[in-house]
Amino acid sequence: MSVPNQLSSLEPRSHVEARSPAPRWPDGHRSCVALAFDLDGPTGDAMLDGSIWRNPSYFTLGSYGPWRALGRLLDLLNERRVPATFFVPAWVVENWPKQCAAILDGGHEIAYHGYRHEAFWTLDRDAQRAVMARSAEVFERYLGVRPVGFRTPSGDWGPDTIGVLLEAGVRYSSSMRGDDRPYLLHAPGSAEPMVEIPGRWELDDYASLAYHRNPDFPASLDRIASYDTTFDNWRREFDGSHRDGLCLTTLFHPKVSGKPGRIALLEKLLDHMRGQGAKADADPGHGHGHGSVWFATCRDVAQWWLDHNVSTQARGVSA
Ligand SMILES: [Zn+2]
Repeated sequence: MSVPNQLSSLEPRSHVEARSPAPRWPDGHRSCVALAFDLDGPTGDAMLDGSIWRNPSYFTLGSYGPWRALGRLLDLLNERRVPATFFVPAWVVENWPKQCAAILDGGHEIAYHGYRHEAFWTLDRDAQRAVMARSAEVFERYLGVRPVGFRTPSGDWGPDTIGVLLEAGVRYSSSMRGDDRPYLLHAPGSAEPMVEIPGRWELDDYASLAYHRNPDFPASLDRIASYDTTFDNWRREFDGSHRDGLCLTTLFHPKVSGKPGRIALLEKLLDHMRGQGAKADADPGHGHGHGSVWFATCRDVAQWWLDHNVSTQARGVSA
């Protein structure tokens, strides 16, 4: 079966590669956590098709993210001194600029996530370019920053998306699922690789906690999962990643997880992750940092990967 070059770069690793040594992280840290939140607000399909303007309660369900949940979440991150990356549709920046500026004030990273959460795989090259150009202009005008990261909104990429992103100055993406470590993506005709920091649905809070009616989500209106079970799932995902020295990122959403009862799950998860460092430090014979978690923004993880792991981890793709 012939596979387009673009797709071949996304194939999962072989079993042989899976036994390769764990990646190296700065200062002897055992594993890496790049906490990431998608601050979608009310953007998405209902805004793209205009139906949200006839559905005010659904609009407010989304706007709760930047308007209310974000501040609570930033308080937690700042209190625990954990950096994070926020993937933000530019429409959200235009409408809640002060709230988005607070992300940067806390030392966190802001990165691209479409203008109104467009599904890039449905857009032709020019339309994708237009979304990136408009987003860059908004980030520059309202926040004075030029993001270097991108997480694909609503699903997937088109065959020319990687080229459009590189052209727009994007240096890493967190959109794929092909590994539990960062890896490199190569675009035909471009010497510059892009770092991919893959996520997984187990670490998407929609999978257990999202619930709304009109439009219905989940479609069957199943119940919200138990918070204890949800925490236990997330903790186990972290424990496995930390045991094997890998890189874990999250697909959390302030409007889903940043609520009064649910913020405690994140707090507990952060404290559990941070506890690994304390445990390791108490272990005589190991230097500081040994066994603990490297908390970093996706931008810093991508840079580290380019600087330190490329030679052993490059996945060559013929253009
Ligand atoms: Zn999103």
